[in-house]
Amino acid sequence: MHVLVPYLATYGLRPFQGFFPDLLWRVDAAAKTAYLTFDDGPTEELTDDLLDLLAQYDAQATHFLVGAHAEVHPGRTRALVSAGHHVGNHTYTHVDPWSVSTERLQQELNRTTRCLKDLTQTRIRALRPPYGHPTGALRQWCAERTQRMVMWDVMPGDYLKTATAARVARFVIRHVRPGSVIVLHDNPICEDVTLPALATILETLTAEGWSFDAL
Ligand SMILES: [Zn+2]
Repeated sequence: MHVLVPYLATYGLRPFQGFFPDLLWRVDAAAKTAYLTFDDGPTEELTDDLLDLLAQYDAQATHFLVGAHAEVHPGRTRALVSAGHHVGNHTYTHVDPWSVSTERLQQELNRTTRCLKDLTQTRIRALRPPYGHPTGALRQWCAERTQRMVMWDVMPGDYLKTATAARVARFVIRHVRPGSVIVLHDNPICEDVTLPALATILETLTAEGWSFDAL
């Protein structure tokens, strides 16, 4: 079953994307440009290594940060922005939008926007809902604040218990297309998978003429 999850999360959702035109699934790009995104950081375990790896390949990415983690790691949060990456909102305590009240969700989002703005002195323009769970309240919050809700085009499932670096890298390399938004995690639960997978992804795709931009 776990082997199927990346396929379901990648291809199973494509028929429904047109129903949610305000959500970003993929960038309209003709060239070999892809958009790496990292959820859940910053962390002591991964962020510094992610930054080094991305810099080696001159790759930019978008990091959807948990507000509480950003507060614990102000230096790492600033380092992401200094390196040319973008940071976005992933709520303050990684709440599930499907199981909290609208009021709580708004508090989480507002607090994170404030925290990231204060730490980085940049305007925060994007969010990714934890667990990829969008709601009407989230869409409204985004519309009122000109924030973009970012979903994904390629979800290799680096966080799955059965994930291996080889399998995650192979999935991304096989399924990437121009403008793809790719989801990986800055999360200690998949440290041993994500870092080596990213190294392979960057090495292989860069050699094939791909480049990586921030959203
Ligand atoms: Zn998350």
